[in-house]
Amino acid sequence: MYLKEIIASGFKSFAEKTSIKLDNDITCIVGPNGSGKSNVVDAVRWVLGEQSVKSLRGSSSMQDVIFSGSKNRNPLNVAYVELIFDNTDHFLNIPYTEISIKRRIYRSGENEYFLNNERCRLKDITNLLLDSGLGKESFNIISQGEVDQILSSSSLDRRVIIEEAAGVLKYKKRKEEALRKLEKTHNNIDRVNDIIRELESRIEPLKEQSEQAEIYLENKRGLDKYEVALYAFDIENMTTLMEEKKKRKEVISKELVTYSNDTNNEEVDILNDNNNLTNLQKEYNEVQSNLVDITREVENLNGQKKLLKEQNSNTNKDDNQNKIRNSLELIAKLEKDISIENEVIKNIKLELESRLEKDNQDNSNLSKLKNEKEMYVRDYRSHDREIINLNNRIESLKQEIADGGVMPSYIKQLLNETSLTGIDTTISNIIDTDEEYMTALNVAMQANKNFIITKDESSASDAIRYLKENHLGRATFFPLTVIKERYVDDNSLNTIKNDPSFVGVLSELLKYNNKYTNIVKNQFGNIIIAKDLDSANSISKKIDNRYRIITLDGDVVNVGGSLTGGSVKTTRTVIQVKQELTTLTRKVYLLTEESHEIDKNIASINDKISELENTIFDNYREKASLEEDINIKNRNILELEKQIEEEKDILSNLESISNNSVNEKEKELINSYNNKLSLKEKAELRLKKLDKEISDLKDIIIRKEADNKEKINKIKSLEKESNSLEIDINKLDIKVENMLEILTNDYEITFNKAKEDYKLDIDPDEARSKIRKYRNKIKEIGMVNLASIDEYEEVSTRYNYLLTQKEDLYNAESTLIGIMNEMDEVMKEEFSSTFKSINEEFKKVFVSLFGGGEASLKLTDPEDILGTGVDIVASPPGKKLSTISLLSGGEKTLTAISLLFAILNIKTVPFCLFDEVEAALDEANVKEFGNYLSNYKGKTEFLIITHKKKTMEYAKTLYGITMQESGVSKLVSVNLEHKSEVL
Ligand code: ATP
Repeated sequence: MYLKEIIASGFKSFAEKTSIKLDNDITCIVGPNGSGKSNVVDAVRWVLGEQSVKSLRGSSSMQDVIFSGSKNRNPLNVAYVELIFDNTDHFLNIPYTEISIKRRIYRSGENEYFLNNERCRLKDITNLLLDSGLGKESFNIISQGEVDQILSSSSLDRRVIIEEAAGVLKYKKRKEEALRKLEKTHNNIDRVNDIIRELESRIEPLKEQSEQAEIYLENKRGLDKYEVALYAFDIENMTTLMEEKKKRKEVISKELVTYSNDTNNEEVDILNDNNNLTNLQKEYNEVQSNLVDITREVENLNGQKKLLKEQNSNTNKDDNQNKIRNSLELIAKLEKDISIENEVIKNIKLELESRLEKDNQDNSNLSKLKNEKEMYVRDYRSHDREIINLNNRIESLKQEIADGGVMPSYIKQLLNETSLTGIDTTISNIIDTDEEYMTALNVAMQANKNFIITKDESSASDAIRYLKENHLGRATFFPLTVIKERYVDDNSLNTIKNDPSFVGVLSELLKYNNKYTNIVKNQFGNIIIAKDLDSANSISKKIDNRYRIITLDGDVVNVGGSLTGGSVKTTRTVIQVKQELTTLTRKVYLLTEESHEIDKNIASINDKISELENTIFDNYREKASLEEDINIKNRNILELEKQIEEEKDILSNLESISNNSVNEKEKELINSYNNKLSLKEKAELRLKKLDKEISDLKDIIIRKEADNKEKINKIKSLEKESNSLEIDINKLDIKVENMLEILTNDYEITFNKAKEDYKLDIDPDEARSKIRKYRNKIKEIGMVNLASIDEYEEVSTRYNYLLTQKEDLYNAESTLIGIMNEMDEVMKEEFSSTFKSINEEFKKVFVSLFGGGEASLKLTDPEDILGTGVDIVASPPGKKLSTISLLSGGEKTLTAISLLFAILNIKTVPFCLFDEVEAALDEANVKEFGNYLSNYKGKTEFLIITHKKKTMEYAKTLYGITMQESGVSKLVSVNLEHKSEVL
């Protein structure tokens, strides 16, 4: 392999593209001072990846290598250098016979590398040339004045030359990489250990929290399971019960209809029977009075018979006349009695009419009262229903307050934490206000309602520590000892206090215990309440928008004048819950009062109804007695009329007796007597029959009345049952509705789904006791962090993963250490053997170049092969072995060149670039130098920049570099015969 061509364009003084063609031999470049010869060395170094601006003799940046312009030329913006190698011997292990390495730089600072015109990284080039002896820091390129540095540099720097010759740089580089990896592994181990430690501090509390959360979830699952199952069970049972009750109510309604029809019919029946009875009694009376008459007639006829017999024996006319007179008088008296009785009957009938009228009136009043009662009963039931509903709601609100449900759970936990002292309560728990300010207060309280009041600062600090340790969240604390009151300043207050829309300063509108004054004034002492948004705006302007103003509707004029408004959608505060509780309790109280009032009204109407029914009954009795009176009077009249008839018969007899016809009369009398006697017997028979019929009918009526009474009682009891059924149905309906609501709202499940998925597999009472136990357990567990379950899972997975990673890293660490140890061994071996060989060669080359004397290399620390430096000991012929620094300039250079050649003897290098390395040598030594170069012919190519004619004599090719145009280098080929002209 050898360097075929160097092409530079825009590089330093090579403004134009310049190509230096070389062959595998000795080429010299000559030219006057400053013509740009050393720029060729810089170009080669640069293209091989030199990054040090100083090494390239630049001042500040890499862009200094770009042609910076001359008197007649403008600066260029880009520079490049290309080296073309012949690689037909595949010295470099790539499948190309020609290799081009190129570097380009732009004024912008952008740098590009190319390998065979393919863009590549510097690293690709460095790796390609590693240990080939062509690296940018290789000993084969020696810049001007650098040759002595081999001697003057430190023993450790000198060691690098040996290392490169030994080809251990690649191991060194790999070791550096391994070291970097090792360091990275250490860092990773440290980082992993840090994270593991951090996780270890979290994992235990998280484990505890997640265990608590699991217990909570287990109990909650149990609770949900039995609660939902029990709700489904209760809903089903209650619905069935409700259906049964409804059916029973329907049956009762039907029965009521039947019973009331029956009682109506029976009453009609009884009425008929009573009429029949009256008729029978009437007939009985008639028959009886007829019998009396007949009896009397029979007796009379019998008397007449006797009298006739008597008259027949002793006629006394005077006596007869007296009897006729008496009879006439009696008839007159009887007729008078009849007219008196008729008069009485007339009066009784008048009385009866007025009774009937009253009866009608009373019955109409009775039906009105019954309607009124019906209305009150309906009203009472609707009140009852509403009270049950409200009481249910009140219970749930009480529960909500008891559970502290309106505040975040961690605040509740904090308030209940017994290990903390001095925690008072939240701001929302200490204030109350009238209904009209409630909306405004809620808006004012949105941010601070859960601020916690503490006794002092240390209690607040303890609580904050507690929140942190338990990862519960953040809270704001108001120590009573610290918080200062805030006010609306007097000027502002005086400006607005007479405004009709100004309601007040919020803190003045609140009710609270005086011990909290500073806190209430701090939070609400600088908030103004106004009637509405327009007036709030105008008030705000008057006081330069310096205070927050809230309207009764909850709109806000903020400090500075911005507005917040719209519909108020605030989260519920405990005050609101309490407020609702008070409102509902008051409502229940009012409804209960109204219910009592309605109940009283019903009772009073019931009294009136029974009073009126009594009056109607009394009236009925009066009517019956008046009718009976009329009957009696009528019967009396009949009696009187019969007496008159009888008396008229007697009178007629007496008169006929006076007219005498005794025998005929007697016959007539006997006939009449016998007729009447037979009539009497018939009447007696009829009377007996009637008596039996009457007694039977009375029995029937008594039975029917008893039966009817029983039915009326039954109707009353059925009505009572129906009412209580309706109440039960209502109660069940409400309970079922509430339970359905809980299923829908709390469990988001339909009844059918709950019934299907949650079967109650145990006795309901047992389920209720389980639910109680679950509830108590959940209460006992208190606040839990549900997120901790996932978090623990995540953290422990991560923790275990990191433990494995840590193990992997430790394994990687020991593997790396193993590799480095192996490389150290190889490097030691390679370095030692190369050192030995170079030392041997050095001794020989030194003697050869100096023509005697002796020199050698020495390890500064032979025990530490990997760290030892390399010293040079040299004594030119005839001189004592002394330190290098005592050698002359020429001796130093020749010693350094000896070492260079010694290395070249050990390690073949394709080409060497020497910039005036032999400048300090005298002609004899230059000759030695030149002669020695010829040893490498065919093995190593030399490009030598020189001013020495003697050196030029050894060159196969000679190039001149001139600056014909000032500031721009130009390459010229020099004919070997005209070398001296160039110089
Ligand atoms: P000597 O024989 O004295 O060692 P030389 O031939 O080696 O001289 P160099 O050191 O290679 O000369 O060249 C130096 C010249 O290169 C200077 O004239 C300098 O102005 C020029 N030069 C260096 N960098 C740039 C650049 N970026 N643009 C233009 N010219 C540059």
